Amino acid sequence: MNLSQKIIFFIFLFSFFIGTNPMNANSLDSLENVLRSKITGNNVDEQLDAYFELGKEYLLHKETDKALDYLLAAESLAEKLKKYELRLEIVYKLGVCYNAQHDYDKAIEVLTQLIKDLTGTNGKELGDACYRLAKVYQVKGNNELAFDYHFRALQIREEQGDRKGIARSHYQVGGIHFFQGNYHKSIEYYEKCLKIAKEINSEVLELSCYGAIGGAYSRLGDVDLSLEYNMKAYEITIASNRKSGLAYISFNLGDNYQTLGDVDKALKYFNQAHKLYIESNDRWGQIGSNKSIGEIHITKGNNKEGLEYLNKSLEIAQSLGARPRLLDVYKSFARNLEDMGDYKKANWYYKEFLSLKDSLVNEATLQKMSDTKMQYEISSKEKAIQKRDTQLQETYRNFLIVGLLFLLVFLYLMYAKYKTQAKNNELQREQNQKIRQQNDQLEEAHLIQMETNQLLKTQNEQSLVQNEKLERKNEELKRFAYIASHDLKEPLRNIGSFATLLKRRFKGQLGSDADEYIDFITTNVSRMYDLLHEVLMYSKLENEEIIHDWVSINEIVQTVRETLRGKIMEQNVQFKVANLPEVQGHRSHLLQLFQNLVSNSIKYNQKENPLVEVGIKENFEGHDLVYFVKDNGIGIDMEFKERVFEIFKRLHGKDEFEGTGVGLAICKKIVMQNNGDIWVESEIGKGSTFYFTLNINTKMAEANSADAEMFVEGVNFN
Ligand code: ADP
Repeated sequence: MNLSQKIIFFIFLFSFFIGTNPMNANSLDSLENVLRSKITGNNVDEQLDAYFELGKEYLLHKETDKALDYLLAAESLAEKLKKYELRLEIVYKLGVCYNAQHDYDKAIEVLTQLIKDLTGTNGKELGDACYRLAKVYQVKGNNELAFDYHFRALQIREEQGDRKGIARSHYQVGGIHFFQGNYHKSIEYYEKCLKIAKEINSEVLELSCYGAIGGAYSRLGDVDLSLEYNMKAYEITIASNRKSGLAYISFNLGDNYQTLGDVDKALKYFNQAHKLYIESNDRWGQIGSNKSIGEIHITKGNNKEGLEYLNKSLEIAQSLGARPRLLDVYKSFARNLEDMGDYKKANWYYKEFLSLKDSLVNEATLQKMSDTKMQYEISSKEKAIQKRDTQLQETYRNFLIVGLLFLLVFLYLMYAKYKTQAKNNELQREQNQKIRQQNDQLEEAHLIQMETNQLLKTQNEQSLVQNEKLERKNEELKRFAYIASHDLKEPLRNIGSFATLLKRRFKGQLGSDADEYIDFITTNVSRMYDLLHEVLMYSKLENEEIIHDWVSINEIVQTVRETLRGKIMEQNVQFKVANLPEVQGHRSHLLQLFQNLVSNSIKYNQKENPLVEVGIKENFEGHDLVYFVKDNGIGIDMEFKERVFEIFKRLHGKDEFEGTGVGLAICKKIVMQNNGDIWVESEIGKGSTFYFTLNINTKMAEANSADAEMFVEGVNFN
């Protein structure tokens, strides 16, 4: 492709984009030259494109013969190359081309086949093919089929949302109604078309609608309204300089003025339209323009000229097979010939008119058209309902999905909450269980406690009662012991005195047995007296008032030594005393305590060199200060270490060792009165050590030098 070819090619492409056709005949030739080189070239694809482009271009310029050649060539090449989609496009243009050539049968054949091929696709192409076929049937006057295909096209276009297509279909349906003489219906459809035309800014459609509505009102006899619409159309046409539209509107205006009786004006517009129809080779339009100009001439009295025009109109209508137009022409002939007085011919045309009218507009056709329309409306309504249902279903579905989602989320949240709650409840239950168990345990413990308390209380009460009883008994016993020991002393002393008196007065006079009996009495009275004395001592410990003076234990032990001097001397006892403390206590009691222990140490000792030691031990056996009295005597069986402290408890008979069995009991009582304790450690044959503590105020006395010396020189016991 050289530069000039390129430029022409781009101009060609540009014209396509802007939707105008700037090409004149010369540029069309140039395009043909350019594309011809492709046709003669080897590239079959380019050949096909070139044929198709040229076909379309010539069709646009209404050079239908050339267009047909190129389109037929393109179609066979597309078939050969198996480019089926492109072939269908080409076939469509072929249909358009046949229609433009007024070869309606061929157009119907081609378009019917195309519709069959496209059936099922329901695309824009099918809609256009139906529309085109409907138009052909319309021209042929087959309104029934025209209606069918128009509505089929309308349905497809509505599905496609092809608004321009919808508007065009409405316009054509309006046209069918117009030629059926159903002008109100035609206006209704033109108005529908006009509405969309305004919305999509289609000037051509707009002015066509104004013109068509103007034409319909004219037929309805409303000339004013008709003129108003036609003038609107005319203004738009002039402003936009559209020749084809201008011809149509001019014709309509002529028609208006003809109706109004303004024949000159009517003729002016008819002539203008006629001229434009010839220029654009619009033979369909020429039928109307010839007829109307002819009628005006006849009105003006130029019958010959008028009839020529009418004949011309008749000739074209017949040649085109345009039966609806032919109807108008027959009618015009009939009326005008009637006016001219040629009734025979006029009658003939009337008959033709009526016959044609019957074939074009009969009840059956009208019914069929109504049915088709009804079907379309039902189908449209069904589609609308279906669409609405689909939308509703979608809305419901969306609601359902959203609802379900919400429900799911809600359920999940509830579940999570339930789980947490359940977990908490479980924990709570466990805690409650524990608390219950603890409570049970506590209750049990409480019960036990209560029972124990009750038991203790009972025991306490019993103890109290027993204590009381014991106390009472003790008291009674003490009183008895005291009374017995104190009061018995007197008669016993009397018995002793009289026995001694008896012995002294009647010794040797009553027989040796009597002397012996009297000795027995005096001895036992003496023993009994000792016993009563001891018991009295023991019981007095309870009753005497305790006086706390500072007492020197050293002095007490010294007093004991003095008291027992005879026995010490007699048995050659070694006596050892440590330096002993001073205490705040009851002097005579303490004297009694030490005396009893020391006298026992001497008494229960059969050694040749008896030893007695009195001393203290500090920090001994858990006590700060422990006193002891130790001997190397006969010792005590440790089995009786507790029992020796019981009153009247003796380990030996009175034949072996004299005694009452009260001494150690008195010691224990004195120690206990001083909050202390007393115990014995002993080994048979080796000796005994009596330990005791006194929990009373104590202070160490100054060392007594003699005793201390004595202590130092003391014999080793062990
Ligand atoms: P008694 O008047 O018989 O001495 P005690 O109450 O003083 O009564 O002593 C009770 C018994 O403890 C004595 O009968 C004796 O058997 C034993 N007894 C007491 N002191 C000693 C001791 N130093 N050595 C051995 N036996 C002792």
